Amino acid sequence: MIAALDIQVTKSAKSKIDEIDFNNLPFGKYFTDHMLEVDYANGEWKTPSIRPFQNLSLSPALAAIHYGQSIFEGIKAYKDKEGNAFIFRPYDNFARFNVSAKRMCMPTVPEEIFIEGMRQLVALDKDWIPMKHDYSLYIRPFMFATDEVIGVKPSDTYKFMILLSPTGPYYSAPMRIYVEEKYTRAAKGGIGFAKAAGNYGGSMLATAIAKERGFDQVLWTDAFEHKYVQEIGTMNFFVIIGNKAITPDLEAGTILEGVSRASAIEALKELGYTVEERPISIDEIINAHKAGELKELFGTGTAATVSMIQELCYEDYSMKFDTSTWKAVPAVKKLLTDIREGRKEDTRGWMFRV
Ligand SMILES: *Cc1c(COP(=O)(O)O)cnc(C)c1O
Repeated sequence: MIAALDIQVTKSAKSKIDEIDFNNLPFGKYFTDHMLEVDYANGEWKTPSIRPFQNLSLSPALAAIHYGQSIFEGIKAYKDKEGNAFIFRPYDNFARFNVSAKRMCMPTVPEEIFIEGMRQLVALDKDWIPMKHDYSLYIRPFMFATDEVIGVKPSDTYKFMILLSPTGPYYSAPMRIYVEEKYTRAAKGGIGFAKAAGNYGGSMLATAIAKERGFDQVLWTDAFEHKYVQEIGTMNFFVIIGNKAITPDLEAGTILEGVSRASAIEALKELGYTVEERPISIDEIINAHKAGELKELFGTGTAATVSMIQELCYEDYSMKFDTSTWKAVPAVKKLLTDIREGRKEDTRGWMFRV
């Protein structure tokens, strides 16, 4: 582990915390007093610094802007009843970040910088972690290419940063989802498994069209046949058919391996469901619906945790649900929230003490 000395800390003269209305926290809008920043050049990471949150000065020729070498993560920190701060499963995000880095031909970030840097930053801005139920501190690590040359090649220099943003309950009404058949998010051999910035830019048009039609998000399908379902926006997808919970497997490399997905799988098992990770076709979902076996559908992700799906529409076939009678999704959500907020014992070592 990197020693405290190895991070250069410049504290802000005055905290902005009193200017923030913690009862009104739009997602990702407000940032804490400090940020972490570290540069990569000549094949090595320099000394990280923590300094007051501020704008960056960047060249208009910045490689990341032109050719998209840019990746990120999303993690949350919580406080327990005693006010101790914890980060939820940061090592899983650390591993995934470096998977994304390798796919995008970027250097990996060492654990001392990613984990210890995050720990020190969160510890410094600990007062920003709200102690209320369903509130948390959203942690955004990211890395981008910083060469100042216009030319399609991997950058020689990079910047890794961490920002912190306090967040309130993600009020998501149960979602209306449109099954996408025209546009594609990810194909085998592509970058679907990486949390790479371009994946999100590429998905916005299909989502905007679905929104015009009254839906919240699209459920992506495979690129070749548009037959097998993948995931939704920034959420992994689950269906409960009978007593089985099914979620698409990760084999094809077209789906983001969600930490919330892995946590929901554990929670479902603990609640007595059989969990299958395998390809699932839209036909199977429709047939289950026709047979009255399609029970509950939901998405999982760090931002919203667990979100119910009240409508799934495929072409002209709309499946609507009365989510007020559902049992599994609220139980999964409660179990995960109870562990995060310290009401339930963390038997799996998910909570990392700051
Ligand atoms: C971040 C993300 C998820 C959810 O991952 P978590 O680790 O659970 O937050 C799912 N799909 C996509 C495309 C994502 O970007």
